[in-house]
Amino acid sequence: MTDSRVIQGVLDPIAAGRATARLENGRASIMLDVTGLSEATRAELEADIRAAAASVPGVEEVRVLLTSERRTRRLIAVASGKGGVGKSTVAANLAIALQRRGRRIGLVDADIYGPSQPRLMGVEGVRPEAREKTLLPVATPYGVPLLSMGGLVAEGQAIAWRGPMAGGALGQLVDADWGDAELLMLDLPPGTGDVQLTMIQKHKPAGAVIVSTPQDLALIDATRAIDLFAKAGIPIIGIIENMSGYACPHCGEVSDPFGRGGAEAAAEKLGIPFLGRIPLEMAIRAASDAGTPPAAGNGPEAQVFAELAEKLDRWLGG
Ligand code: ADP
Repeated sequence: MTDSRVIQGVLDPIAAGRATARLENGRASIMLDVTGLSEATRAELEADIRAAAASVPGVEEVRVLLTSERRTRRLIAVASGKGGVGKSTVAANLAIALQRRGRRIGLVDADIYGPSQPRLMGVEGVRPEAREKTLLPVATPYGVPLLSMGGLVAEGQAIAWRGPMAGGALGQLVDADWGDAELLMLDLPPGTGDVQLTMIQKHKPAGAVIVSTPQDLALIDATRAIDLFAKAGIPIIGIIENMSGYACPHCGEVSDPFGRGGAEAAAEKLGIPFLGRIPLEMAIRAASDAGTPPAAGNGPEAQVFAELAEKLDRWLGG
């Protein structure tokens, strides 16, 4: 047996086909494929491989080269032309609804002006830990790990941030240890300024969901958001009309405080898919404030988000 085959035989039971080893003049050179492994698993496997190789008689030096196939994790941006339209609420609940459909998904709160995901996801005040220089997302009760700009931006300072700074900070969140997540839902800051543009250009989401209220589209705020993505060459997955129709909690009568159908009409005019509407409901606000996102429950609101997630799921494909 050659020396290389001896060392390969030692590594095979540990590395499950991920290691290719060569031994020459006392030096073991090992290629380790770490595609799809979390940071922690990768470090553990590398340490085991090193120890096993070093224990082979005749090995004086061990070199490990980590290789990985191109990262396939995709980002979905959730954006809006202005604040207060329910962008964060939609991002959180869509992430949960996609998770319930079997997608491995993480949530990134990039909203430097009002990071609200920790509250929405029931983990307010929980600080993410870091291993070496890599952040570890916070586990939430809903199976969707979360990282928020809230932890990086001192309160009240966001306004002074410029595009490149925010883009750089976002990089820390996107490149965190997301384990086997295949998707990241990105809750962008509201608006269409250079902070948003830099974030989009730098992190190239696979597609964008635009959230608007019926009257917001009439006021073309959302149209500006659509332009922003067009500028960066990012496809628009579709528009969601939020706060569409108000169901009176007492009599059940549905009225339309912000009009209705504005987003659908605008989507048609712009040639962009319309994904659906979410009613303005006390239950949605109450559940959101309590850190118990409606999409995680079994009520009619969960059904609304499940249907939106189904469309998103189809867009994402296999
Ligand atoms: P944005 O991220 O666009 O600033 P938020 O998601 O923070 O907006 O929502 C703003 C407020 O509106 C929150 O209090 C939220 O609970 C509430 N809200 C969002 N969508 C709905 C809805 N469909 N029905 C009732 N309240 C909603």
